[in-house]
Order: sequence, then structure tokens, then C-alpha cells
Amino acid sequence: MFKVQQTIGSVVCCKCGVPMPPNAANMCVNCLRSEVDITEGLQKSIQIFYCPECGCYLQPPKTWIKAQWESRDLLSFCIKRLKNLNKVRLKNAEFVWTEPHSKRIKVKLTVQAEVLNGAVLEQSYPVEYTVRDNLCESCSRFQANPDQWVASVQLRQHVSHRRSFFYLEQLILRHDAASRAVRIKQVHQGIDFFFGNKSHADSFV
Ligand SMILES: [Zn+2]
Ligand SMILES: [Zn+2]
Repeated sequence: MFKVQQTIGSVVCCKCGVPMPPNAANMCVNCLRSEVDITEGLQKSIQIFYCPECGCYLQPPKTWIKAQWESRDLLSFCIKRLKNLNKVRLKNAEFVWTEPHSKRIKVKLTVQAEVLNGAVLEQSYPVEYTVRDNLCESCSRFQANPDQWVASVQLRQHVSHRRSFFYLEQLILRHDAASRAVRIKQVHQGIDFFFGNKSHADSFV
């Protein structure tokens, strides 16, 4: 007669048949891994807002956070924006390279979660952030009323010939240095540049 050899307290996996300690699914860890998706219900794509004027990202509802492309600050901002991530244990997060002009940020997350009977599963998955340009409050307030300049740069020339002045003008145009000026006014013997914030004026000088 055929006799099944069995260890006490052990069952066989319902999928592959290896002996294993019993759990609710009667499935071994390897098979669980292929059956269970621990990233289910986690956010995989999200839209974020970026102010192109001052280089800040919106942390809802109202905070704007300054962060460089692919910086640590941007990474932690990206992680904080994800809902439901507290349901799993975050093991690692890293940027996946994207073209800065693509307006896409990709982050690869590795997470762990405990499933039946303490079996720990680990999985990696990508999250895609769509970056939408949106002026932050101070930049948009400023654009609505550009005459509210807070800093001005006055360029003057006190000699009669205009040559060096012309050279400077070409330099400004070439480097697009005045693009952040809200108003440019030609005055006697020179030009006035008005800026909406002092850092714009400082970088111009
Ligand atoms: Zn199995
Ligand atoms: Zn801004």
C-alpha cells in the first residue's frame, strides 16, 4: 500500500507541492511571491506642480519647496506625495533617469510587506510623476501686478560715446539676463531695469 511520508505540523504547498509550515493560503513563500502583489493599491502615477519662476514644488495644500532636479530634497518630496505608502515598509527609493525637459520624474521604489504567517515579500515598482507648470502664489501675485517691483538696477553711462554701453546691451541680450525684469525703461544716459524680487535683480547684476 502506498504510504505518504509526513512530518508533523507540515503541509505541502498547494501550488508546487514542497513541504512547508502551514499558513492560511497553504502556499509556500516562493509561490506567494508570484501570486501576491504587495504594491496593489499603492499610487503608481501622480501629478505634481512646479513653479518655473522660482524652481519650487507644491507640497499641498500651500507649501512650496525648493528642490533641484534629481536632488535628495526632490526625492523625499516625491516620496511624501504618495498615499498609502505607510501600508508597506519602504526599503529603497531612487530616481530613474529622465530628460529634464520631459516633465516626467520617475522613481523606483522597493517595498516590503508581511504576508501570511510572517513571510516577508519584497517588490520593486516604478512611480511616474507628471510635472505641471504652475506659478506659485508669490510669483503669480507678482505677474498679476508687475509694477510692484521691489528691486531696480540702473545702468548709466557718463561719457559721450555709446560704444561700451552698446557692448553691454549686446551682452545682456545675448545672455537673456534681463528676461526676468518686469519693466525696462530707457532714461537719460541709461536704462532702468525693474525686478519683482531681489534675487532676480542680484543675479542680473
Ligand atoms: Zn509553492
Ligand atoms: Zn514661484
